[in-house]
Amino acid sequence: MAGLFFGVFPDLIFVGAALLMSINMFARSREISRQRLFPVVRRVYAVSHSLITVAVFGIITAIVTGGFYFPILGWLLHILLDIYTHKGSPVEPQFPLYPLTYPAIKGYIWWRNPYFLVVNWAAIIALYLLMNGPKLPIISWG
Ligand SMILES: [Zn+2]
Repeated sequence: MAGLFFGVFPDLIFVGAALLMSINMFARSREISRQRLFPVVRRVYAVSHSLITVAVFGIITAIVTGGFYFPILGWLLHILLDIYTHKGSPVEPQFPLYPLTYPAIKGYIWWRNPYFLVVNWAAIIALYLLMNGPKLPIISWG
């Protein structure tokens, strides 16, 4: 369950930042615009999608708990998938080692591509069924 949480954690952070900024602008009766939001949200996205951020978090949790905190592998997987599935998106190129801006990686596909969506969800369902599906009887040939 914690692994699932960390699997969506990077996106929760930047969407949360966009929401908080929008609420703040609304409360100050300022126009909520993409031009004002994007530079900050882009930076929050880069920080939450940086392997360096995950490494720092991993080191801190290892010091605090005395061992590797496996649920953050969900965060790592999220970043590795995002790097190649944001072709043509506003967050392209991806900076997986932010604050370093090298490498700057352009994606291979946009995750909203219908073919990718079908393959992605089929893989998720297949993996779920493999791990949680009914046990099949083992047929002995002997
Ligand atoms: Zn993401």
